[in-house]
Amino acid sequence: MEAEPALRDTALALIERLRDRPVLAVSTGAGMSRESGIPTFRGEEGIWREYRAEDVATPQALYADPALAWEFHDHLRTVVAKADCNAGHIALARLEHLLAAHGITQILITQNIDRLHERAGSTGVIRLHGDIQRVVCTACDHVDDDFPIPAPVYPPMCACGALLRPDVVLFGEMLPETAIDAAFAAAASCGAMLVIGTSVQVQPAASLPWVARENEALLVEINPVETPLTPLVHYSLRSGAAQVLPQLLQQMSVLLSKNDP
Ligand code: NAD
Ligand code: ZN
Repeated sequence: MEAEPALRDTALALIERLRDRPVLAVSTGAGMSRESGIPTFRGEEGIWREYRAEDVATPQALYADPALAWEFHDHLRTVVAKADCNAGHIALARLEHLLAAHGITQILITQNIDRLHERAGSTGVIRLHGDIQRVVCTACDHVDDDFPIPAPVYPPMCACGALLRPDVVLFGEMLPETAIDAAFAAAASCGAMLVIGTSVQVQPAASLPWVARENEALLVEINPVETPLTPLVHYSLRSGAAQVLPQLLQQMSVLLSKNDP
């Protein structure tokens, strides 16, 4: 089957650019997991239409009404635990291996908290916003990677007596420093960046493509709708990640094999 011209052009441009600067950064947001059945935060059927962020996902809210904050997070934890990787997650994991075989490093940066990239086989994933399945103590260094879903009581408490919380970055909190440093280093050094399924509104992740662009990276956006980034990107693939990524992988695979000696 003949690929869409936009897709073929994008694959060609990516390969050309990555030959000179062999690092592909990939930045993913909630839209990446939409086709796995996990709702996004904004837009149609976004989670924020049911809950107000300031009521449930800030540090103030967590301490003011921990039971409500836990109910909200357990709603998302339940959805996430039942979700499977989609064809987009799998294509990105395969792309990492394909590129590696041609001397190109892929660095995956995600705002998602759902582990689906890791479950699909991507390695070294830089998680900017944490992991909702992991629960940590607000006082001691207790960590539980497989805390029961739903929590046994609202709110659950640590053996030390303090409140437990999901290991996610709440609105107004700092991002983990090592993750953000690694993400900005990738943005500054990559030859190209794929920006997938993010509304590009949550800082500092939203700055990554701008940093990449300042460093002359090729930008490709995959999103069914336009975003504030759209005017800045070189290629826009306006469809769902689970549709586009397997096709992009296929195109890149064909082109790279043609380049082989
Ligand atoms: P967002 O909710 O603000 O925006 C989602 C974007 O995805 C929108 O631009 C939308 O047009 C696009 N989109 C929708 N369906 C798509 C598809 N099939 N393919 C590609 N794109 C699609 O998401 P965001 O910018 O990532 O928001 C930030 C916060 O939401 C993050 O902090 C993240 O931690 C949190 N979040 C994570 C998950 C998850 O882990 N799956 C889910 C919801 C929210
Ligand atoms: Zn504790």
